[in-house]
Amino acid sequence: MRRTAESNIGSEEISNDKGDFMSPFNENGKVWMNGSLVPWKDANIHIASHAVHYGSSLFEGFRAYRNPKGTAILCLQDHIHRLFNSCKIYRMEIPYTEEDLCRAVVETVKANDLKSGYIRPLVYRGYNSLGVNPFPNPVDCAVLAWEWGQYLGEEALREGVDVKISTWQRMAPNTFPALAKAGANYMNSQLIKMEATLEGYVEGIALNVCGHVSEGSGENLFILHDGVLRTPPLSSSVLLGITRKCIIKIAGELGVPVVEETIPREMLYIADEVFFSGSAAEITPIRAIDKIEIGSGKRGPVTKKIQDEYFGILRAEKTDRHNWLTYI
Ligand code: PMP
Repeated sequence: MRRTAESNIGSEEISNDKGDFMSPFNENGKVWMNGSLVPWKDANIHIASHAVHYGSSLFEGFRAYRNPKGTAILCLQDHIHRLFNSCKIYRMEIPYTEEDLCRAVVETVKANDLKSGYIRPLVYRGYNSLGVNPFPNPVDCAVLAWEWGQYLGEEALREGVDVKISTWQRMAPNTFPALAKAGANYMNSQLIKMEATLEGYVEGIALNVCGHVSEGSGENLFILHDGVLRTPPLSSSVLLGITRKCIIKIAGELGVPVVEETIPREMLYIADEVFFSGSAAEITPIRAIDKIEIGSGKRGPVTKKIQDEYFGILRAEKTDRHNWLTYI
């Protein structure tokens, strides 16, 4: 019997309120594939494509926000630059320039009439040969865009979420490079996310192989302790998050000291505030970890101040002084 999403164990919980808050795709939309816009339903690849078998894809994820000045894409150039860096690590030569892909993103957003939502550029090894050696395969590119609400739930940004420390660790150094946003890394993320979901948590926090705090399945992490905002360094097997970079900037402007330092697991429990950051998760407060209440068990004042500044810029209520927004 073919197992469908409905017949999978645990799918009931997942489709209720403990899984992804993924909005439906616009199947009348368009996808940019290798230089042209094609109807959503024709944006297919062959089952013998290398990426399907060996995880050979690199991707990006970021948002467009509708504000009174129009539709703005957040940190477009930074994301496309990270995509090129991810591909460099995996020796994939993208047959376009960074400017070309930025233009492709804008075209896709326009073609889908997207007011606000999520954008997903993808570079992958395509169809030619199914040996592990990826070199004989073409490097193909696509850009998708669709409406997408709050990643960790409607209330998450205000109320915070309950999470657990995962029994799964993040990738060890010199195994899967954490700085490359590779499709294959998200097999690890899926283990973290499934475990958390099935145990009734919204998300999991993974430690690295040394037992230090790393990140969520799809988010970086910040803690406030003794008035200092702390986030794990790149050596803790984290993605170099672009929201992380924005938060470090905003915190500096607000006069909150920020350090990148190794964080022991137990420091999470005694932190005054903890929050996730990511293009999808935005700035999501964490109210409990392993059922231990963090601070007051509510969104903390520093988290709120940083959210206000971040969303203020996205809503065009505050000046976009770092040129984070690209209006289409
Ligand atoms: N870590 C992981 C594993 C992620 O998937 C993401 C989301 N891209 C992040 C961190 C946050 O990165 P960003 O702020 O660039 O979205």
